[in-house]
Amino acid sequence: MDRIYADNAATTKISHKAMEAMVSSMENTYGNPSSLHQIGMEANDALQTAREQIARCLGCTPKEIYFTSGGTESDNQAIISAAMLGEKQNKKHIISTAFEHHAVLYTLRKLKEQGFEVELLDAGEEGNITAEQVQAAIRPDTCLVTTMFANNEIGSILPIAKIGEVCRAHGVLFHTDAVQAVGHIPVNVKKQNIDLLSLSAHKFHGPRGIGVLYARRGMELCSLMEGGGQERGKRPGTENVPAIMGMAAALKEECVLMEENARKISAMRDRLIQGLSKIPHCILNGPAGNRLPGNVNFCFEGVSGESLLLLLDSKGICASSGSACASGALDPSHVLLALGRSPEIAQGSLRLSLDASNTEEEVDYMLEVIPQVVEHLRRMSADWQEKVKGSREFEL
Ligand SMILES: *Cc1c(COP(=O)(O)O)cnc(C)c1O
Repeated sequence: MDRIYADNAATTKISHKAMEAMVSSMENTYGNPSSLHQIGMEANDALQTAREQIARCLGCTPKEIYFTSGGTESDNQAIISAAMLGEKQNKKHIISTAFEHHAVLYTLRKLKEQGFEVELLDAGEEGNITAEQVQAAIRPDTCLVTTMFANNEIGSILPIAKIGEVCRAHGVLFHTDAVQAVGHIPVNVKKQNIDLLSLSAHKFHGPRGIGVLYARRGMELCSLMEGGGQERGKRPGTENVPAIMGMAAALKEECVLMEENARKISAMRDRLIQGLSKIPHCILNGPAGNRLPGNVNFCFEGVSGESLLLLLDSKGICASSGSACASGALDPSHVLLALGRSPEIAQGSLRLSLDASNTEEEVDYMLEVIPQVVEHLRRMSADWQEKVKGSREFEL
């Protein structure tokens, strides 16, 4: 069997449509969009077409789209812009959640060092927050609420439209990191009351290193860099036209196929969740329903996430663990810790993230192999043997 790619939340394979658009752009619209000649103007036309296509997919106007290098940059620029606006009005309170991506959490940490007060809402057991929690946390000096649209590790989908409504009613800016949502579930910035939104092309079968920051009309962005006047002066640097064309093509395709793909992918997800739940001493991370179509995440007691991944890789399954490998040590995922998992349980996690190219046969194979690998690792663990003998308690 070919390798099974079940790590689509980390990155996706580029689509043929995206690749074709990129090659065509490199061959035909290779000019600098700022150049005052025919080839430059053609590149500029291509850029505008891509901007219009993306705006249509998000439910905004082309002027509200800023091209960036990806999700990380968009998150940084959105949050710093809102904080700088807040500072001018002496509003230095920011609300977020404990399960954000590091692009958000570390930007907030930096702002905290600069005198901002950051309040992280409790993620609850399922890794979600309510609009009521946001409402209760808003103060007269709150300048920004930033919450992700859907979580990259555990797949929870936040009540974005309601959170946006609460923010708007209180005159507080609302940013959402929608990197895991765009192209996968319906996103509409107008209907969902979103002021600022980050997306990244490589999470929906577009190329790496390109993304969008949507900023609602009238919202004054600050630039993170000094340079030329591209992107209305808010994001200097020569536009990456081929990548932008690839991103627009990928997004258009994913938006057309969204419903059909979500139905197919979530059926495979549900079968995996059901099958893996039968493994003793495990727990599903994230909600049972209301979950990203492709996301499966479990903790298995008595198993090291790293060993699990290596063994699965040797069986042809490309998956991921919640754990991030930093300086050689395996840190338990901050998202799983935010759900209340102990560090020991959190480090034994497995995330499978599917896309439309995965098959029912692959699901069958994973359902056969994963329980075997978990059992194998447990048999080799001294800790586990003690628990089996009863000299230590099981946690799950
Ligand atoms: C991948 C990801 C990012 C970072 O996007 P890049 O384009 O890789 O910088 C940010 N937030 C979430 C939720 C992500 O999944």
